[in-house]
Amino acid sequence: MTDHPRLPLAGVIGSPIAHSRSPALHGYWLRRYGIKGHYIPMDIAQADLPEALRLLPRMGFVGLNVTIPHKETILGLADIVTDRAALIGAANTLIFRKDGRIHADNTDGAGFIANLRQNAPQWNPAAGPAVVFGAGGAARAVVAALIEVGAPEIRIANRTRPRAEVFRSDFGAKVMVHDWIQAGNMLEGAATVVNTTSLGMTGKPEFRVPLDAMEPGALATDLVYTPLKTQFLIEAEAAGATVVDGLGMLLHQAAPGFERWFGHRPEVDEATRQAVLSA
Ligand code: NAP
Repeated sequence: MTDHPRLPLAGVIGSPIAHSRSPALHGYWLRRYGIKGHYIPMDIAQADLPEALRLLPRMGFVGLNVTIPHKETILGLADIVTDRAALIGAANTLIFRKDGRIHADNTDGAGFIANLRQNAPQWNPAAGPAVVFGAGGAARAVVAALIEVGAPEIRIANRTRPRAEVFRSDFGAKVMVHDWIQAGNMLEGAATVVNTTSLGMTGKPEFRVPLDAMEPGALATDLVYTPLKTQFLIEAEAAGATVVDGLGMLLHQAAPGFERWFGHRPEVDEATRQAVLSA
């Protein structure tokens, strides 16, 4: 350890990592708030994780974002895991504490809710059931968050049904599992509708569940944000839903980490969106 002051460093670890928008986002906030620090993307193999976590704090890192494929593995390497990260079974934000311990949290669910609150202030999650298409890693954060904000029922369907069944055992009796083939039937009376599958993402197959049964006035949101306006959102809007794109979730999930590492709560606003979109 050196005893002279050092610039705070943070970054994102994953593999591959070149596509990550996090460096553009945190880099923008660092410049905007005049903070002398750096945020660095690092491609780290699974086998190298323990050594990386031992060395990075000694090199001046104050924390990390964690992305695919390390979000689950990292829980076993952290010293303190928040309850929500444990429930979700994955962490996306690490804090390297001064006492040497590694604190792991998951901010995806909070980012998901903050995006909806900001862009659809009239949304009331308690007004009716929530529909969740997909049961992958991101869906776990979404379902945990929807239950926390008072959704009375979670209707979930996944192409691979057993993955959705696990949600019922992990998140409780509010979760109702439906067949993927009839997923459109879940929409009746729903207040909130979320696509958590990767369908509709650039380069992936299109989302094809019929949305005719969407309640006009429901809130629909897509976790996919490339393209920004997915076919799912276009069809949901045509069916009368209020729609919110997924980019805001990415921006909001990043804010708590930035604040902990660099000491400034960053603004999520149009300028932030543009900085990430134009990077
Ligand atoms: P994941 O764990 O790999 O889950 C992928 C999900 O998509 C599963 O439910 C999978 O179903 C479903 N799926 C994939 N191909 C399908 C197909 N051809 N037909 C039907 N279902 C299909 O991925 P994830 O981490 O949950 O991420 C899901 C999406 O959310 C990705 O596009 C990711 O970029 C996005 N995301 C966005 C944010 C944000 O901040 N906006 C945050 C996290 C994730 P099976 O179980 O049957 O394979």
